[in-house]
Amino acid sequence: MPTQFVPRAARITRNTNQPTAFGEPVYVTRPPLPDLDQFHSHLEDIWRSARLSNGGAKHKALEDALREYLQARHISLFNNGTMALIIGCRALRLSGEVITTPFTFPATPHVLSWNNITPVFADIHPETLTLDAARIEPLITSRTSAILAVHVYGMPCAVSDIQDLADAYGLKVIYDGAHAFGTKVDGRPITDFGDATMLSFHATKLFHTGEGGALVVRDPSLHKRVELLKNFGIKQEFDVVMPGINGKMNELQAALGLLTLRLVEAERLARTLVATVYRERLAQIEGLTCLDLPPNVQDSRQFFVIRINSAVSQIDRDALYDRLKEYNIFTRKYFHPLCSQYNCYRLLPSSSPKNLPVAHRAAEEVLSLPFYGSLGHDGAHRVCDAITHIMGHR
Ligand SMILES: *Cc1c(COP(=O)(O)O)cnc(C)c1O
Repeated sequence: MPTQFVPRAARITRNTNQPTAFGEPVYVTRPPLPDLDQFHSHLEDIWRSARLSNGGAKHKALEDALREYLQARHISLFNNGTMALIIGCRALRLSGEVITTPFTFPATPHVLSWNNITPVFADIHPETLTLDAARIEPLITSRTSAILAVHVYGMPCAVSDIQDLADAYGLKVIYDGAHAFGTKVDGRPITDFGDATMLSFHATKLFHTGEGGALVVRDPSLHKRVELLKNFGIKQEFDVVMPGINGKMNELQAALGLLTLRLVEAERLARTLVATVYRERLAQIEGLTCLDLPPNVQDSRQFFVIRINSAVSQIDRDALYDRLKEYNIFTRKYFHPLCSQYNCYRLLPSSSPKNLPVAHRAAEEVLSLPFYGSLGHDGAHRVCDAITHIMGHR
């Protein structure tokens, strides 16, 4: 019998006193991998064409498939998501200061540094953990050129509040959508918001090309600039029109993407089952809450995140993180420390903890649990057994 059909009663009577460790280490993610024979057949095409990069047939096919899947107007594929974001800032001609969140992966503020832009950190919203629109306005100066917000864990930012502010002050809006592949808000694709959205296709992301990424934009002239910038600014042979760089995705990455794209829906469904087990079981634990998306949002299923309120729970997040290792469960403290705490940013005025109380608290409370389809119903229960054993019942 497939594991997901284990009767409810069997789950309720499960003995949570003696959880056993996983035989193999369990990490937060495990990439869906296509059938090797199918990948091999793509490789044969590539070998026959002897074209390994520069917009070959696989690149074109993946670009078309993703444009349709994401309902994107203009999409450019990249060798990784960070490069897509660096070029996005460059193509939007951002300069001076850009207001961003400290509660993110290091790539977000780093792309600003790589564009000689000073990141200005604004605090996050206590529930959504995305940039708090109310905290942005006081940080706007004559040097501010844009807002760089992150759809953290696939939670959509306050897109209309952010756009209103940007319109009022003449700022650009660029989104780090690394966690938001396929996210929709009221049925609208997440890439519809702002001037540009970056997607990451790193192996740890739901849809991946090993390494890879994309930039989705709405304006056709911006799209042209992005395409030039990612290929050294070469317009045509002998005609280099701007100082571009190399951001191109190669044919092997694109071939992998064509196959993993077919696995995305099944993977999302399998992750939904894992999430259902987590929500049901973990609701029993005092001081533990699961991060919820609003009902009008289609979840990307990139992460499953819990928050531990140590004023109420018996142990804090760090202790849970450490103790889970005894069960061979390796969770991640995404995002601790905050980017504003890194040596390269901690002396910025906006990095002062007084400016970022909500982010500091969140960074102490969040924990990303193992979240991938092949963990399955049983695996999810075993993770919950361990957490329940460590933290106790309500
Ligand atoms: C993964 C990630 C990136 C970096 O993407 P790469 O494709 O690895 O360069 C940037 N921002 C966030 C929030 C991420 O999670």
